[in-house]
Amino acid sequence: MSRSVLVTGGNRGIGLAIARAFADGGDNVAVTYRSGEPPEGVLGVKCDITDPEQVEQAYKEVEDKQGPVEVLVANAGITRDQLLLRMSEEDFTSVLDTNLTGTFRVVKRASRGMLRARRGRIVLISSVVGLMGQAGQANYAASKAGLVGFARSLSRELGSRSITCNVVAPGFVDTDMTRALSDEQREEIVKQVPLGRYAQAEEIASSVRFLASDEAAYITGAVIPVDGGLGMGH
Ligand code: NDP
Repeated sequence: MSRSVLVTGGNRGIGLAIARAFADGGDNVAVTYRSGEPPEGVLGVKCDITDPEQVEQAYKEVEDKQGPVEVLVANAGITRDQLLLRMSEEDFTSVLDTNLTGTFRVVKRASRGMLRARRGRIVLISSVVGLMGQAGQANYAASKAGLVGFARSLSRELGSRSITCNVVAPGFVDTDMTRALSDEQREEIVKQVPLGRYAQAEEIASSVRFLASDEAAYITGAVIPVDGGLGMGH
């Protein structure tokens, strides 16, 4: 049976691979996008997750066109890398507002329908950096670590209604986000990864799809590393 799936930031990168994986599996998939054209084959809803009104509008559109969201993948995220002493208040709060508070906004809105339906799947995209830390990414790491406590609290709040909430923590994935790094930085990173390469976005998508599947019905509050061994299971 096809489900109503929403992927935030599903217009490119990891989010697009996740959206395609669900669509290929026969689900009805909506993605948020902020500008340009949404990808073909999925429902594009314009939404900046830092704006609560846009989040509400996006949900109304998704509900109208494909029904209440049964699977939510909170994937949208940004980086604003800077060493602490040079990190501005804006660098810090904008990353927190998108990655953590933005996730709160979309999850809260999705939980309404899921509680009513007494079922649902929530998957949050964190990062190996949230668990290990990374120089120059204190803002990003704080936001991604915050998702773990958020998800685990929700798994306790929502579990009695058969709603699962899990976290996927990717390592380094070949997308626009990491293409912005210098060749030197990229080589340095690869040296630390036991599998010796970047992940393809599709390799993150397959774990997300698993967590939303019937086979994963008894998994909640988990953090699944998909990082080529970089975090050694953390
Ligand atoms: P990209 O930079 O390629 O894409 C980011 C996505 O997030 C875009 O779709 C972007 O939309 C969306 N987005 C950003 N801010 C907002 C906002 N305010 N409202 C709505 N959408 C927004 O990143 P990746 O695909 O690499 O990353 C996806 C997720 O995976 C992120 O949360 C990232 O932190 C995480 N991750 C990535 C890793 C990597 O190595 N690439 C490793 C670990 C985690 P738009 O096109 O409009 O800008």
